[in-house]
Amino acid sequence: MHDSNATDEESTRAVLMGMREELQDMIENAVGNTAPVTLDQTQQGRLSRMDAMQQQAMADETQRRRNLRLRQIDAALIRLDAGEYGYCISCGDPINADRLALDPAVALCLQHAR
Ligand SMILES: [Zn+2]
Repeated sequence: MHDSNATDEESTRAVLMGMREELQDMIENAVGNTAPVTLDQTQQGRLSRMDAMQQQAMADETQRRRNLRLRQIDAALIRLDAGEYGYCISCGDPINADRLALDPAVALCLQHAR
């Protein structure tokens, strides 16, 4: 356990929760766009089918990244509850404040992020 400023902790929690909510909205709103591509030979030519599949792949990748980000934010919230927030999960050193300001979900110090 590390001592931490309660006010800082609360504002960090609020920021993380806000980011989490925003991401969840995006993930839920995108669900309609990630339905499997229908390969209707009569409606679409080969090229537009490939376009549709390419768009599908891009949408899947965006969702994948959003889910990854969501897990990062969840992990940061768990560290906050545990009193371990702001410390590198690899070495335990304090993470640079500028780095945390840039991304409150960051889990590694500069040295270990490389
Ligand atoms: Zn480290």
